Amino acid sequence: MTYSYVSHLECPICEKTYDTEERHQLCTCGSPLLVRYHLDRIKAEVERLSIGERSRDLWRYHELLPVRSPEHVVSLGEGMTPLLHLPRLGGEYGLARLYMKDEGLVPTGSFKARGAAVGVSKAKELGVKGLAMPTNGNAGAAWALYAARAGIEATIVMPQDAPSITRSEVALAGANLYLVDGLISDAGKIVAQAVADRGLYDASTLKEPYRIEGKKTMGIEIAEQLGWTMPDVILYPTGGGVGLIGIHKALLELREIGWLQGPLPRLVAVQAEGCAPIVKAWQEKKERSEFWHDSTTVAFGINVPKALGDFLVLRALYDTDGAAIAVSDEELLQEQKRIARLEGTFICPEGAAAFVAARKLAQSGWIKPDEKMVVLNTGAGIKYPETAVVSPPLLNIGDRIPAK
Ligand SMILES: *Cc1c(COP(=O)(O)O)cnc(C)c1O
Ligand SMILES: [Zn+2]
Repeated sequence: MTYSYVSHLECPICEKTYDTEERHQLCTCGSPLLVRYHLDRIKAEVERLSIGERSRDLWRYHELLPVRSPEHVVSLGEGMTPLLHLPRLGGEYGLARLYMKDEGLVPTGSFKARGAAVGVSKAKELGVKGLAMPTNGNAGAAWALYAARAGIEATIVMPQDAPSITRSEVALAGANLYLVDGLISDAGKIVAQAVADRGLYDASTLKEPYRIEGKKTMGIEIAEQLGWTMPDVILYPTGGGVGLIGIHKALLELREIGWLQGPLPRLVAVQAEGCAPIVKAWQEKKERSEFWHDSTTVAFGINVPKALGDFLVLRALYDTDGAAIAVSDEELLQEQKRIARLEGTFICPEGAAAFVAARKLAQSGWIKPDEKMVVLNTGAGIKYPETAVVSPPLLNIGDRIPAK
């Protein structure tokens, strides 16, 4: 049995190809590389039905993942997160078929675990001993923990303002952790220098090709959970855009192997008003975004002033007749509260941003009341205690609870 049907790496700009047996980072032209598979062989040899009987983690899609040998798989049980129907919130939005894909329930508390599981597993298969990456927090936490499990040394650089829990996760995992008084782009420059000086594997967003493959499994799961059909719209809080690129790639691959039919869902990139380079580029119908100066938002995971894969995100939006929309921090913090009250789920600020966008797009009529929509909640709210400050009354021992 073939575990992985991986074929090669391909540049989406100049079409140059590379093998998957050696380490590759960017194409010589500077573009990220995409992983390609023998889709025709999967179509002929793999039964969609057989998937249902497999382990309930993302490795159930191993034919469409790049790790050749199961012994290199580094797993903490990531994947197969719930796809929850949200009837009460949907009632408010006027959307009867509103669903949340809840990525708060994966190891490390954010969907970054998917990218780390596949990225670290492939790094292990390639014989990597040390990796380095800049991060806004969650990716660093996930990669540090998976690297620890793989026996790979990780060096992580993050802004000193990143959510403090992620700092603890990285340090506890035994990684080399450095803070920088700046943004993720500043951390990136420091990592690039370390990679050049010390020959480390560069695990920066899209500088290694395999993280996308882990994140694309969100798209495969959504399709499987909907009985191998596609929703009408998928909303995604977009920073580096890897999740959106991955979901788009997954759906195209599934259609190619005949496991899905019909038009792709309209993909929506959601950003914060304080950092909206993709939204601006989409509004101006551009192919690439421009660096967003002095970016700021409480939704730290989407504070990415310039994404290396911006052109791939924009292609996915144009290809699917999607959209890009920015929301304010006040709006998303309000929505985070409302969702906890109506649906009993404490989601992350990034996920809350995507829900604000859903509300607005339903209001404007861009989403029709009978359309099926999936909103990605990319992480657990409990990783961001500083976004939910409360002041309950303090009782003395023996006090009665006062009447309301
Ligand atoms: C990283 C991150 C994002 C953005 O993901 P990209 O795939 O880089 O666009 C969104 N939400 C959370 C919680 C994140 O950690
Ligand atoms: Zn190229």
